[in-house]
Amino acid sequence: MRLTIIPPVIDGESAAAHLLRAFDVNGEPWSRERLRTAGHSMSDILQGRAAGPLADRLGRGEDAFRGWTPTEITKKKVVIADEVVHRDDWTTNVRRWCPCCWQDDLRRTPSGRHAHWNIHRRFWWDVAAVGTCPLHHVRLEASCPICRTGVTWEAGSLTRCRNGHSLLACDGARVPPATTLADAYVVGRLGGMARTSVPLLDGLTLAEACDAMERFGVALLGGADGALSKFPAERHPEVFSAGLATARDWPHAFDALLDGMARADHVGLGAWGAEQVYGYLYLWAKRLPAGASGDAVRAALYAHHAGRGPVHKTSVVIRHADVPLVSLADIAAECGRRPEFIAGYVKALGAWPQRTRRGTPIGIARETAAQIRAILDRALRAEDLPAALGLAKRQTRMLVAARIVPPAEIHARAGIKADVFDRDAVAAVLSRIRGSAPTVGATPAGLLPLARASQHGKVDGVRGTCDMILAGQLRVRAVLRDVPGLAGFLVNPEDIRVARRSREGGGLTLEEVGRRLTVPTDSVGLIVRAGLMAGTAMPCGEILVRDDALAAYEAEYATTGALAREMGSGARWVREALDRAGVRPAFAITCRKTTTVWRRMDVPTDLRRRIAKTHAPRP
Ligand SMILES: [Zn+2]
Ligand SMILES: [Zn+2]
Repeated sequence: MRLTIIPPVIDGESAAAHLLRAFDVNGEPWSRERLRTAGHSMSDILQGRAAGPLADRLGRGEDAFRGWTPTEITKKKVVIADEVVHRDDWTTNVRRWCPCCWQDDLRRTPSGRHAHWNIHRRFWWDVAAVGTCPLHHVRLEASCPICRTGVTWEAGSLTRCRNGHSLLACDGARVPPATTLADAYVVGRLGGMARTSVPLLDGLTLAEACDAMERFGVALLGGADGALSKFPAERHPEVFSAGLATARDWPHAFDALLDGMARADHVGLGAWGAEQVYGYLYLWAKRLPAGASGDAVRAALYAHHAGRGPVHKTSVVIRHADVPLVSLADIAAECGRRPEFIAGYVKALGAWPQRTRRGTPIGIARETAAQIRAILDRALRAEDLPAALGLAKRQTRMLVAARIVPPAEIHARAGIKADVFDRDAVAAVLSRIRGSAPTVGATPAGLLPLARASQHGKVDGVRGTCDMILAGQLRVRAVLRDVPGLAGFLVNPEDIRVARRSREGGGLTLEEVGRRLTVPTDSVGLIVRAGLMAGTAMPCGEILVRDDALAAYEAEYATTGALAREMGSGARWVREALDRAGVRPAFAITCRKTTTVWRRMDVPTDLRRRIAKTHAPRP
């Protein structure tokens, strides 16, 4: 049955609200029973299925209300004004209103009608997530100002409670404008007022955006284990608005929120996982649907967590954030060592964190962890060094003592008692010793393995030879293929002799002096020992004679043979002439072969003439 007065449609009015107002204008009581009597279901009307009653009572179609009436309602969601909200965030029970909006309605320029006719419901008053009127900064009213009973859709009229009291006698409870930010955002998205742009939330459904505001606000005001239910209902707008401000001032406000959570008293005392630190915020973020906004929240949260300290290896954060810190325990497990052992290396590298907290993993920079792993991978124990060098234990010890192959210092600094070497450093020394020597399949003639050549070369063994090579005085001639370490390094023994001489100041061996003077080597040794010729004892025990010392000897002394050669006579005749002249030798040696040394100044200047005529020197 058609109503008498057909009021005009007002923007923002749902089908149910329009029917309620039409009943009110016509003085027709509104109740579930009366609607049923007329063949209509209040539930259907409230759920947006109002085509029947609209046509029957007002002769209207649904189209005029489609923008302000739910188009889809399921157990979980409601679609209204092209936005999805949680089913819980939309009500068909409580009938809230903004007293100030109604005062505006009453003040609106009369259009010939009674001003009361302008009073209408805003569809977003049925959105339970909205707690205030963001236009007027007052709480939405939900109960009669006179009898305090809750106002529902069940009974009463547009502006009266079930007991007939006017709902207009109400000024509205003011709230701080800052606590209406979230409602302004929601109402703006629904088209009830100018829309505010919050890119992070705009990328989510309205339901998800409400969750985000709730999560941010609860975390900000209630901490990691906070929940909206722990706040009294009148504080909910404040909580949501704090969340909105965090989303609006993205990303620094969010980072500040996370910083605050990480500073909380409980954090650090055994509570270090992302779930412990960020609580419900973290659990919520993990489940946010993929997309720009969800990904941004996750990325910021994971990065914040990763930046704070070690992340457990099973954590989702590991897969999604660049984690700069690893825990000491993880490095230890990875290296198969005890944490205390690894700690020594962290300290030796000067990378121990300035502050650690009991019960919280010790965070080590990834680079430090990689460094330690590399150090341990390259570590070579002293007992494995001979094999690496291709030398006997004793030879190896000498190279170590001479610091040609020094232990790697880092291990000592890390508190390891035994010598530990660095495989790479050992390889580098071998490479330096090798120089540019070619690889050969078999030992070329004239070359000897370095260790063997060193035994005979009077160069203080392998150590001396290596010293000379590293000093650039000697070079490795070839390296045997597939022979480890120095064992395959081949040198020319003659190179060693030449090098040794130049290394030791250009001296001649006693043997060489003997060849030069045509005197047995043993005799040269005795001449040196007698102090007639200056010799230099080398570290290896050998005696060398420098060229100038030899020249000085030859200027002052001569053997019988030398005098004979100088005069072109025979040694025997020279000796006879000297004896006849009563000259006494400076030094006489009688061993295998007699060697007599004369002081040149003792030799008469006319010795030549004193030699018997028959043996006279050739002219
Ligand atoms: Zn209002
Ligand atoms: Zn009342």
